[in-house]
Amino acid sequence: MKTTITIYNYLLALLLVLCSICASAKAQTKALPTPQKKVQIFGDAYFPPYDFINEEGQPDGFFVDLTKAVMNELSLPYSLQLINWSEAMKKVQDKKGDLLIGISYSEGRSKMFKFCGSLIYLSQSAVYRKGQSPVMSLKDLSGKKIVVENQGIAQHLLSIEGFTKNVSTVDKVSEGFDLLSKGHYDVLVCDYETSSYVLFKKTYSNLEMTDLQLASQLYSFAGNDEVMLAKIDWAIQRLKAKGIYNELYNKWFNKYPFKWAKQVVISIVILILVALLLWFFNILLRRKVNKAKLQLDEKNRQLLLALHAGGIFVWGYDVKKNLLFNIECDYFPPEGIAPDKDIVYYHPDDREFLLHTIKEVAKGNIPKEPICVRMNREGSNEWKYIEKEFSCIRDKAGEVITIIGTHKDVTERHRMQSLLEESVQKMAFAIKNANLVLWEYDVNTGLLKSYNEPINDYNDSTLLKSNDFLKYGHPDDLTLINDAFRSMRERSDKPFSINLRLRYKPDGEWRYCIIAGTSFIKNSKTGDVIKYVGLRRDVTEMTLVNKKLEEEKIKAQEADKLKSTFLANMSHEIRTPLNAIVGFSNLLDSTSDPEERAGFVKLINTNSGLLLQLINDILDLSKIESGILDIHNDVFNFSDAFEELHQSFLSRIENPEIKFICDNKYKTFNVCIDYNRTMQILTNFITNALKYTKEGYIKMSYFKENDGLKIIVEDTGIGIAKEKSDRIFKRFEKLDNFAQGTGLGLSICKAIIRACKGDIGFDSEEGKGSTFWAWIPCEIMEIVEK
Ligand code: ADP
Repeated sequence: MKTTITIYNYLLALLLVLCSICASAKAQTKALPTPQKKVQIFGDAYFPPYDFINEEGQPDGFFVDLTKAVMNELSLPYSLQLINWSEAMKKVQDKKGDLLIGISYSEGRSKMFKFCGSLIYLSQSAVYRKGQSPVMSLKDLSGKKIVVENQGIAQHLLSIEGFTKNVSTVDKVSEGFDLLSKGHYDVLVCDYETSSYVLFKKTYSNLEMTDLQLASQLYSFAGNDEVMLAKIDWAIQRLKAKGIYNELYNKWFNKYPFKWAKQVVISIVILILVALLLWFFNILLRRKVNKAKLQLDEKNRQLLLALHAGGIFVWGYDVKKNLLFNIECDYFPPEGIAPDKDIVYYHPDDREFLLHTIKEVAKGNIPKEPICVRMNREGSNEWKYIEKEFSCIRDKAGEVITIIGTHKDVTERHRMQSLLEESVQKMAFAIKNANLVLWEYDVNTGLLKSYNEPINDYNDSTLLKSNDFLKYGHPDDLTLINDAFRSMRERSDKPFSINLRLRYKPDGEWRYCIIAGTSFIKNSKTGDVIKYVGLRRDVTEMTLVNKKLEEEKIKAQEADKLKSTFLANMSHEIRTPLNAIVGFSNLLDSTSDPEERAGFVKLINTNSGLLLQLINDILDLSKIESGILDIHNDVFNFSDAFEELHQSFLSRIENPEIKFICDNKYKTFNVCIDYNRTMQILTNFITNALKYTKEGYIKMSYFKENDGLKIIVEDTGIGIAKEKSDRIFKRFEKLDNFAQGTGLGLSICKAIIRACKGDIGFDSEEGKGSTFWAWIPCEIMEIVEK
């Protein structure tokens, strides 16, 4: 096989030589370099690994070695210079050089130079700084600052692709690498092998490269002399046949490690790391799983313990099979039982409800609250209250396949709850019937919650602010209420009790209340009081009764005092006329003088009259006390009675300083009233006027007023001091202890007027006189004026 290739190579070389000889015959005659004349060869001073000046300043690279081998093969003397590429091209173009080494083929260049046959192909790479977005294709170059070698093939290819504006050039590719590394440009486009070589050799640690997807370019020798180029082709074939070409190729292109090797190493390392990590995670995961399993077991154990401790049993219901089965209980037979068979253990009133609930849960309708049913499996006399909760397991379609239920005996709780409800009801009943208000005050919110509160219309859910509560308090008691609220706000631990007046409605009556309160709930950490509770008692009735009792007591005490005074007075009032009667009666026998005897008789009569009046007053008083003061109305002519009374008093008035006036405007004044009582009032008024008037006049008058009779007695006596005026009509009340009288007259008048449903009063000015009046409602039949 190898031999065939070698023969083929020879034939090809021979063909090329023949062709070139034919071509040279036709071509213009060009002077071949004479053996003495050196072939002037030019190349790029920096295009490693193809042609470049090495660190010792010597030309080096694949093309340099190849050129040397070719020239040697052709036995041609030559001079090789590596200079700037553009200069090198110019030299050969200007015929100052014969041969260019390491030149890419392009259409443009093919017009300037003749090219050797194919040699190697170049592909282009993009070099950029690490950290920048990678340049994978031509698209990624747009908008970037690109640098290329001046007149290099990269510049040519980019211009074909339309990249001209953002492309800058450097004379040497090495400059391009430097400037790129320093950040002057974004991308350097150059031959792939060159980039690999530079990045491998030089320490541009901040650069990396990718293959730029551009068409590969033929890379070869070029010059002006086709014959020489044909020879070079032939020589290259020879070198290839000898294996020298491959040696050179391998020397330059296979001597630095392949990229993929690096990648493979990295991949292996990564794989190992991943494997290690996976192994580590596996161990970690296993440990976690084991730990979680242990925890789960422990939790399961705790759950079971909790279930047992809480008296909770767990059961299941297979919806398809319609069977109840045990999970954490032993209610059902091992093969399970249908709910409608097991239902016999439940209270008849609860059976339908329980079966219905199970059916609903099977449809996915789980009750929001646990249900409570009565059950009796033991056959005892008592029903147990069982609380049941439900959850369900569904299949992929969402259908309930199993119901999981709990079962808890709450009989004791139920009993306690019933007791509690009963107690609460009793308490509520007691509070309501005792007219109490139960209140609680939350210090943190400042809100007052009351039970059985008339202020809130007995609505227990209404909350009041402390300020709102103040509105119901009596203005005089606001300080008390404020003090109580302040003490609660200061979280005082002292119980308190205040008496105050409240009004449940803005226009309601004031109610007397006692509010008692005490701290109730405290903060467990700070010990601060959070809530107060207390009771409010409405003691209005009791307070009013007490007040009345107090008043009655004072009255009784006063009455007692007055009665004592009365008795003292009585002994004096009775003895005085009695002594006079007894004394003057005895004296009657001792004298025969008719004048003297007449004087004694008169005195006896006067004192008898006084004694009789006194006894009548006492009798009237006893009637008033026992409530049997009767009023007997008769029709009579008041005018006549009035005149008669005036006459009877007129005869008795001895004081010439007093004018006793009878103001009677009527001839006939027929009324229907109690004659005796009306005359008693009038008599009393006149008697008093006579008693307390030393000079001036006493005037008695009457007239009709508002469907009644008004009687008036006016005098110019001593009058009554204002401060004493409210005592005038009270029993046993005598303003002047030395004056004659029992202090009963006016109080009897008032009692009579009250019985007649009339009115009585007086106007008086001390030292000037008094006017006493009484109005008696009555029918007035006839009035005829005089
Ligand atoms: P008495 O029988 O003591 O007069 P009354 O009840 O009739 O008792 O009168 C009560 C008191 O009222 C008298 O003690 C007297 O001080 C006073 N009083 C009554 N009438 C007059 C009057 N016309 N002028 C001045 N004081 C009077």
